[in-house]
Amino acid sequence: MIPLYKPLVTGRESLYIDDAIKTGKFSGDGIFTQRCREWLESTLECKKALLTTSCTHALEMAAMLLDISNGDEIIVPSFTFVSTGNAFVLHGAKLVFVDIRPDTMNLNEMLIEQAISEKTKAIIAVHYAGVSCEMDVIMKLANKYNLIVIEDAAHALMSKYKNQYLGTIGHLGCFSFHESKNYHCGEGGALLINDERFIERAEIIRDKGTNRKNYFRGEVDKYTWVDIGSSYLMSELNAAFLYPQLLIAEDINNDRLKSWETYYRALINLNLENKLTLPSIPRQVNHNAHIFYIKVPSKGIRSGLISYLQENGISTSFHYIPLHSSDMGEVHGVFNKEDIYTSIESERLLRLPMYYGLKQSDIFDIVSLIRDYFDKENSDEKSRRLLGKTEF
Ligand SMILES: *Cc1c(COP(=O)(O)O)cnc(C)c1O
Repeated sequence: MIPLYKPLVTGRESLYIDDAIKTGKFSGDGIFTQRCREWLESTLECKKALLTTSCTHALEMAAMLLDISNGDEIIVPSFTFVSTGNAFVLHGAKLVFVDIRPDTMNLNEMLIEQAISEKTKAIIAVHYAGVSCEMDVIMKLANKYNLIVIEDAAHALMSKYKNQYLGTIGHLGCFSFHESKNYHCGEGGALLINDERFIERAEIIRDKGTNRKNYFRGEVDKYTWVDIGSSYLMSELNAAFLYPQLLIAEDINNDRLKSWETYYRALINLNLENKLTLPSIPRQVNHNAHIFYIKVPSKGIRSGLISYLQENGISTSFHYIPLHSSDMGEVHGVFNKEDIYTSIESERLLRLPMYYGLKQSDIFDIVSLIRDYFDKENSDEKSRRLLGKTEF
């Protein structure tokens, strides 16, 4: 059975966890949390990285930093994970959904301006599959209307837009280290703070609303409750698991990209025959092969293909049910203008197995099964047509 993903294990995690145990420090902000932070800050070149318990929590911290309250509007794609919206709805925001571009499945940057109102506070740029949104246009709009840009870069560690790492372009960037992502520690995340105004308060929010950080630095003589906040600090054990993965991030990234390219080349003929659509990577974007997906002509064909691959030992999956058509999304959001692509394109999308160490021969097997399925589909279609004729 080939799974959809295999959580990364480099083999060195337990060594680092042993080291963490020897330090005797288990809660956050010990040496492993610091090392991960330094790695993120120096590799990605950002002002401040804060390790968190999840990407969902990094997004919640962003909502608190923006003082989101009842009636504030947040511009988001509807084609995204629940947390992208939920983190802001928790604080009373209304979600304004903007349609996606079918080529990247990301926010269509040309439709954002018409969704901006007096109440708009932020634009959430979700980099689907680790492929960047059109950040220049988004940042320009944010400047013009005085909005904050938050990158939901849950998929996107190591991806770039015009040679700049994703997560470092907006005012805030959120990463996930959930086991399904390219680098992980079971559950975890990070908040990148690219706008210095937010740094001090972000540390307080992450630390239960206390100024404990200033206390440890000797800046105040006792620590106390100074702001809203919660418990968002990553544990040392998680950081110790994550760190060796970050150290070989480049190798992991290259291996995944190789698999991605292999899929792409092997599927190009089916694309030319219009059986399926391949993902497209805009110029000046370097992605990280977080996901390999195809889009088939219809939801029905997708169901058939999923079953056929499943019968042959291949796990695939699709996502997302667009937020605007979920129960909560209907209550807390509105779709701005027409949903031309979000629903239709999400119903065509199918994710194929993608993980570090995926074998090239497995990729060829998967592709030939997909080819078989469409050949079978074709001959079924022909015999249905013949049958139709004989009945007349
Ligand atoms: C995985 C994911 C999240 C949530 O990440 P967690 O670390 O599990 O909280 C948020 N947004 C997107 C786009 C994701 O894929």
